Formats: sequence, structure tokens, C-alpha cells
Amino acid sequence: EYALGVDIGGTKVAIGLVDKTGFVKEQSIIPTDLSIPPEDMIYRINSEIRKIISKTDLSKGELKGIGIGAPGPLDIKNGLITCPPNLHTWINIPIQRLIEKEFPYPVKLENDANAAALAEKWVGAGKENENFIYMTISTGIGSGIMVDGKLLHGYRGNAGDVGHMVVDTSFGKCTCGQYGCLEAIASGTAIATEGSNIVGEKLTTKEVFDLFKEGHPQIVAYMEKVLRVLGIACVSLINTFDTEKIVIGGGVSKVGEPLFQPIRDYVEAHALNPEGRLTEIVPSKLDQNTGVVGSAALWLL
Ligand code: ADP
Ligand code: ZN
Repeated sequence: EYALGVDIGGTKVAIGLVDKTGFVKEQSIIPTDLSIPPEDMIYRINSEIRKIISKTDLSKGELKGIGIGAPGPLDIKNGLITCPPNLHTWINIPIQRLIEKEFPYPVKLENDANAAALAEKWVGAGKENENFIYMTISTGIGSGIMVDGKLLHGYRGNAGDVGHMVVDTSFGKCTCGQYGCLEAIASGTAIATEGSNIVGEKLTTKEVFDLFKEGHPQIVAYMEKVLRVLGIACVSLINTFDTEKIVIGGGVSKVGEPLFQPIRDYVEAHALNPEGRLTEIVPSKLDQNTGVVGSAALWLL
């Protein structure tokens, strides 16, 4: 038994065939191109899906369905991507229908971070936990909130969009129009932009972290603020949901301990409940496959 997972991100789209143990059997990654109409991008996605299906000669009935994880806001009841800041040209795109009409398989849509939380619950770092939060720090920031063993969906499936939780209004304006959203301060995009401004040359997120590790004074001062804001966000989540563990994934989590340790230190000093201060802050266990496995989990879990 298999499912196809499609993880649509602001930087890339990952498409994978996942088996019932959560193993990614075939995978293909294409860059997200916002200069072309979304329908054309979906055409490319469908071509990749077709290639993967034809490469793996599945027998009839073996592929249960196609799961899509996409950046919110979404309208999961109607299969729409409505107005995602990180795919700003994708306004009211009926993604579910545009994929479903090309294949003889049913299609489900879920917020990407919520799908990722399902993956962590299924085969990742949240396996043993009934209460945990998956947070992705990537092009944007999102989360999937598992409470009492259930993924929190909300009215339209958009629960957990912590990227637009206001954490410090003294920082600049977010793509959503508010000042001081978590994502506008601490996403990979924000870190690369602000780090580049500080140094005066174009840097990637990784290069900003490299300067942080090397002790570049202005970057250290700046990154300490960013990491503090991530700590504040985690404390708010811990205090609100009484969570046991926060699992952090997404491209930026690849930097490892220089990201994780300061967040742990902040949580240890500031969570309201003394036990909450010991909340585990751990990396995703699924490498960079969380999105694909989570989208497939919509059919296999
Ligand atoms: P998407 O947002 O499309 O799902 P990713 O999860 O890969 O994609 O996140 C992309 C972001 O992660 C970019 O901002 C990129 O700069 C950042 N990133 C990717 N690799 C690293 C790395 N090794 N260290 C720090 N940041 C990284
Ligand atoms: Zn915002």
C-alpha cells in the first residue's frame, strides 16, 4: 500500500511515493517558480506525479491516494489554496481539483505544517507523544499542533499558523500587514534579508548562521534577538497548549544546535510551569522528508 505525498513550499515542491511504513520510495524535487501562473506550476507538479507513478509500476489498488501539503491559508473543505503570503500569486487556486482531474486517485489537501505534524506522529519525533507541536522554520514559519492525540484543524483547517503570531511589534512589517509576526523576524527568508542588510552583501540564511558561529559582532547581536523571539514563541505555545515537546524542522533547522540550544535556554528560563520549562525542543526525525511523508500520511495513517 502506497500514497503519493506532494509538499508545496515557497522554495521547492517535493513529490514522493511513500509506503505504509513511512518510507519514501521515490522522490522528485522541483523548484517553486512564482514567475509562472500557478496553473502552469501545477502542470509541472502533475508531470512529476505521472513520472513517479509510471516509474514504479504499482498494481491496481496499491496507490490509495494523493495527499497535498500546502502553505496556508487554505480552505480544506473546498480544496483551495486561498491567499498564502509565501505563494503570493496563488489566490483561490483549486489545487485539489486541478490534481484530481488528471489522475484516477482521490486527493486530499492539508496545511503543510499540519501534514508534517502527522508525519512526526507517525514515524518521527512525536511518535510517543500525545501532545506535541511541530514547527517548521523555512521560507516561512508554520506549525502543526497535536493536542490530546489529535491534530488541531480549526474551522477551515488553518489552525497552527504561528508564523503570524505577533511576538515583537518593534520589528518590521510582515507580508500579512501586521508588525512583528514571528515569520517576519525568524523565518529563513527574514534572516537572510536582515543578515544581508547588516553585512552589506547578499547572504543566504546559512551564511548568516556561519557568521553567527564565527562571532561576527553585529550578526551575533542580531541573531541573539532572533533566537530570543523564537524562544518567546515557544514559551507562548507551551503555556497555551501545555505541550510535551516541540519538534523543529524546515530548512533552517539544518543549522542544528546553534538554533536549538538558545531556544531551550529561553524556554528553561521563562515557561510558566516549572515542568513546562523542561519541554523538549528537538529536531525533526525525518530529515527533510517531513512534508512528503506527512502529505502521504493523509492516506496511510
Ligand atoms: P520550503 O520553505 O520551500 O519548504 P525549506 O524547508 O528548504 O523549503 O526552507 C527554505 C529555507 O531554509 C530558506 O530560507 C533557506 O535559506 C533555508 N535553509 C536551507 N538550508 C539551510 C541550511 N543548511 N542552513 C540554514 N538555512 C537553510
Ligand atoms: Zn504576518
